[in-house]
Amino acid sequence: MRLLLFDIDGTLVRGSPAKAAFGHALASVFGTAGPIAGHDFAGKTDPEIARELLEAAGVASGEIEAGLPRLWDRYLAELARLIPAAPAEALPGVDELIPALAARDDVALGLVTGNVEGGARLKLASAGLWEHFPVGAYGSDHSARNELPGVACRRATAHWGRPFDGSDAVVIGDTPRDVACGRAARAATVAVATGRFSMAELKAAAPDRLLPGFEDVDLAAAALTEPRGP
Ligand SMILES: [Mg+2]
Repeated sequence: MRLLLFDIDGTLVRGSPAKAAFGHALASVFGTAGPIAGHDFAGKTDPEIARELLEAAGVASGEIEAGLPRLWDRYLAELARLIPAAPAEALPGVDELIPALAARDDVALGLVTGNVEGGARLKLASAGLWEHFPVGAYGSDHSARNELPGVACRRATAHWGRPFDGSDAVVIGDTPRDVACGRAARAATVAVATGRFSMAELKAAAPDRLLPGFEDVDLAAAALTEPRGP
């Protein structure tokens, strides 16, 4: 049984007012959102992004750590307030691909995402996708993305009552960081060029498979379930 571990932003969905909610929460808790407008969020965990922005604004590390629990409370409240009017949008093919994979008995679906768990749930629920992912590992579990596939495998083992490790997993994402994280876990990796990285940039990260998107659902399903060939 293959454990498919999907990234969220740029891989399953796009849009959502998450960046606005994050900036609002940072300003509300710390008095600054740092250099958020030009900051690179891609492939990073939420705590990693928060620390980078606040350190750039000169906030002391003790103050950052002390304020993070309040930051997540404010961020999730703000995201929940904003997202009904601006839901995340499933990327092309996702609305067909994910239910088709969920219906297979040789595939288990999960998430590996830098989003804190509440943010992941709000984004995917707004796009009608949350119900398909019984397990996940989140930025709220660890700020280092490379630690997350192991967390997801342990949760999958508990959920499905059979052992999963990195060699059973496929890590799927839209950034070189997703590929590196899968490789660190000895998982297979599939990169998809629906975020801000081009096919050429993703190819340089050497994923097992590289897709332009999930529009060709049969091709995508084959690549995801047999990333290293049949
Ligand atoms: Mg992403």
